[in-house]
Amino acid sequence: MTTNAALAARRTAAIPSGLSKYLDVYIERAENAELWDVEGRRYIDFAAGIAVNNTGHRHPKIIGRVREQLEKVTHTSFQTTPYIDYVAVCEKLNTIVPGDFEKKTFLVSTGAEAVENAAKIARAATGRSAFVAFSGAFHGRTLMAMTLTGKTTPYKAGFGPLVPDVFHLPFPIAYHGVSEEESLAALERLFRSEVDPTRVAGIFVEPVQGEGGFYPAPATFLQALRKICDTHGILLIADEIQTGFARTGKMFAMQHAGVAADIVTMAKGLGGGFPIGAITGRADIMDKIPAGGVGSTFAGNPLSCAAALAVLEVIEDEKLIDRAAAVGNRLKSTFEEWQNGNAFACIGEVRGLGAMVAIELVRDRTTREPWPELVKAVTHAAAKNGLLLLSCGTYGNVIRVLAPLTIPFEHLDEGLAIFKDTLLATVREMEGNQ
Ligand code: PMP
Repeated sequence: MTTNAALAARRTAAIPSGLSKYLDVYIERAENAELWDVEGRRYIDFAAGIAVNNTGHRHPKIIGRVREQLEKVTHTSFQTTPYIDYVAVCEKLNTIVPGDFEKKTFLVSTGAEAVENAAKIARAATGRSAFVAFSGAFHGRTLMAMTLTGKTTPYKAGFGPLVPDVFHLPFPIAYHGVSEEESLAALERLFRSEVDPTRVAGIFVEPVQGEGGFYPAPATFLQALRKICDTHGILLIADEIQTGFARTGKMFAMQHAGVAADIVTMAKGLGGGFPIGAITGRADIMDKIPAGGVGSTFAGNPLSCAAALAVLEVIEDEKLIDRAAAVGNRLKSTFEEWQNGNAFACIGEVRGLGAMVAIELVRDRTTREPWPELVKAVTHAAAKNGLLLLSCGTYGNVIRVLAPLTIPFEHLDEGLAIFKDTLLATVREMEGNQ
């Protein structure tokens, strides 16, 4: 039997250090919200492959559809020899993406690729070059997506020059002293001092900042952005790569604000574990690119399309939108209970939307000084105790929960119990060392 340690040594020798190394846990198999490593140890999954396995690991319906597809055809390249499931995924997304207007969709393989294409479409459709994005945003690691990302280290530092004509604004985060009004005033200032709004092609926004720390944008803020975009002929581009597909208790997070974007980027949860991304937008905008201007060899691979169609059925059949709300409520109320107890002064804030819930850990509730060392220690200790947790946040001091929406409550509660014990023990240990 191989061991996690042996594989870690092979990894270090074979793979560059630029791929971050989170845990030395090598997974052998997974089922719904449970994973087992190569040493036979079991883990409860509160990570869902970073918001990919919303429908759980190896959902029988998804696996069944992919297996059927495997027996038919696995690749042709849609641009050369099309197939029905690609068209069916696009038709379905045109129906479910918010917006009471005609839409068109095309498929890609990753989130970053969806973002790159959204930027290209926005430039081609508007004839403008500039983009506005937010500090703390994460849009991917390719050149344009990286430029739009609002965090320097480790995403941008050393990789410049970045794409010109991209401007960042403070994201409204009340907990960190940035109000919605201040954020909008910064946009107004930007238009006056840096870039004329008639030069701006699009504003990229995550309705809930994901990697940045699970900060939901206030509904009124998204509504204000919609208005500003309409006033100046700017396209509103919603990055729903992490928030999409029932995660937040709606099919798409923008629905909480009742705002329809002009272009929506999607990936992660759409394929339920198979790589696929999508760009859906207003038909008049999407049709502005000449044939051959977008596309890629693998995009909309038949296995991923079969998976995506099954994912969309599972979300509907198993009412995962409602389930996300139920899972989210359970998470939030548990974390609030901890926060209100004496032993957890380190929990500065509990927040989230639907089943996208996080706790922000601070050294002191009054100063709100981030405590990233605690987050690192807790996530590592939790893995040792059989729970997979992810961190996030500009300061690395947030623990987020992205459990599969299909997680049985029994496993959710088991995971929460491990989380609680681990957090308590780690805080005591760290305070003891101070
Ligand atoms: N946008 C958002 C909001 C994301 O969360 C991510 C991935 N964490 C991306 C874009 C990039 O997606 P990918 O890793 O598939 O390129």
